[in-house]
Amino acid sequence: MDHKTLLKKLKLAIQLMELHDENSFKIRSYQSALTSLERGDQDIMDLSTEELSKIPGVGKSILEAISQLKEQETFTALQDLLEKTPEGILEILQIKGLGPKKVKVIWEELGVTSTHELMEACQSGKVAKLKGFGEKTQDTIIQNLEFKASNQGKWLYADIEETIEKFTSELERIYPSALIAIVGDFARKMEIISEGEFLIGLDSLFGGKEKLKSLETVVWDMSQSGPFSWKGTLTELNLKMTIHFTTKKDFLWKKLSLIAAPSHLAELVDEKENISEKLAKRNYNSEEEFFQVNELQFIPAEMREGLGEVALAKANAIPELLEERDLKGILHNHSTYSDGKHSLRQMAEHCKALGFEYLGISDHSRTAFYAGGLEIEKVLKQHAEIDALNKEMAPFRIFKGIESDILADGKLDYPDDILAKFDFVVASIHSILNMEIKKATHRLITAIENPYTTILGHPTGRLLLRRAGYPINHKAIIDACAANDVVIEINANPWRLDLDWRWIHYAMEQNVKLSINPDAHEMDGYDDMKYGVLIGRKGGLTKAMTLNTLSVDEIANYFEKRKKQKIT
Ligand SMILES: [Zn+2]
Ligand SMILES: [Zn+2]
Repeated sequence: MDHKTLLKKLKLAIQLMELHDENSFKIRSYQSALTSLERGDQDIMDLSTEELSKIPGVGKSILEAISQLKEQETFTALQDLLEKTPEGILEILQIKGLGPKKVKVIWEELGVTSTHELMEACQSGKVAKLKGFGEKTQDTIIQNLEFKASNQGKWLYADIEETIEKFTSELERIYPSALIAIVGDFARKMEIISEGEFLIGLDSLFGGKEKLKSLETVVWDMSQSGPFSWKGTLTELNLKMTIHFTTKKDFLWKKLSLIAAPSHLAELVDEKENISEKLAKRNYNSEEEFFQVNELQFIPAEMREGLGEVALAKANAIPELLEERDLKGILHNHSTYSDGKHSLRQMAEHCKALGFEYLGISDHSRTAFYAGGLEIEKVLKQHAEIDALNKEMAPFRIFKGIESDILADGKLDYPDDILAKFDFVVASIHSILNMEIKKATHRLITAIENPYTTILGHPTGRLLLRRAGYPINHKAIIDACAANDVVIEINANPWRLDLDWRWIHYAMEQNVKLSINPDAHEMDGYDDMKYGVLIGRKGGLTKAMTLNTLSVDEIANYFEKRKKQKIT
């Protein structure tokens, strides 16, 4: 049991109490304890019962639940609730937009106890007729069920990274003298992974696969496996796995073939042959040499997608890609002023301790009341605190920003005289996400044309594997950013990675800068910058086109000059 899982179990208990109509006072007391625990800094697993009891809202029954959770991974009240809940209902509870109250109605009135039955009930129109539901809710449920089904067995890159690394060392242990490489989508740093792929090069192929039997972490699927490939499942994640076997002699060309996307392999190198055919010649002894022999500039693995990189390599136009160490500051972060977990000072000190020159704080604006959005007085108070901290922490600097909600009509969330007080404004959409493409694009362009907008935040609002973003006309949005000198964020949170990497090249072509923003809501959130860099590189992002590679003085000038030019 770890901190996060423990909180998840408490949350599940609350959902189930609501589902089973338990005493509302009890539900509220659990909820307020959970909120305090979530807000707290410390790992619950490290706290003693006495320390826990001092946390506001944590009463006797919660303490008991936590101590049982620590020892037995569950607690009596949760077990009782789980026993009277069909498994399918638990699955339905995970569907976005369906709270326990609605699930209860569906269960009781329609007898639905599985996602499959729920889909049928929606398709026959029964759900729409329930009190408090309607056509729109029914459509949303259908969409979410379809989205969920299409994502079965898929994982975020960041969520499987550690497991893939662990598995690599297991392979190294059982094949001590083999050549081993991670190949497939993971090697190309795809944002979503549905299969883990490895290549193992052995002196002799005889008996190679048998050794995998000693691993407890995977299950072999004999029927799917071929003579030189092992197929199965990594049980911990229920992730499909393919392990290819080859001889050491063939390892290099197999590795290059298996890392590349099929469309990269199909790209022509000259009039006669494509990448795949060139690889098969095996007239090279290293990855670098393969490109040299074929008069191509080296193409980094993450770019081998078949999206024009071969043409770039022919023209010697593959740029030097952004590195993590190029980043000089961190923009778009939250503090306890809105819905962040750590104070402004903590966020600043941690940022400085990591070696960065500046922090851009951008808490939520006032319309985002659910996220503690800032009323004007609070903005002014925060600015005073920033001024004081800047004196104390110089040359480190905190820039005054805000993540302003883009309202339904595209306007920003404060009057101009307040907007003028910020060094930078991240404009983002957080509400009324259900829009068709024309409306969404128009709403964003209106915000981009606002002279106070510095950065466009998470352009589509997508949450990978959880929620599709609203559809936008990417080209029109990027063109508008070019025309208005607005930077586009690559939101580095692994759930977002928005702007999508497939549009980075076009943005750079239009001379639109990108900013790698972690959207950190706590100090550890800065670590997500890594995923922003990975996905930026995948899209061909360079240091020169990344806003937060500017030094503290450069970016201060940039913000100032921009304001002078746009606001007269
Ligand atoms: Zn946001
Ligand atoms: Zn944010």
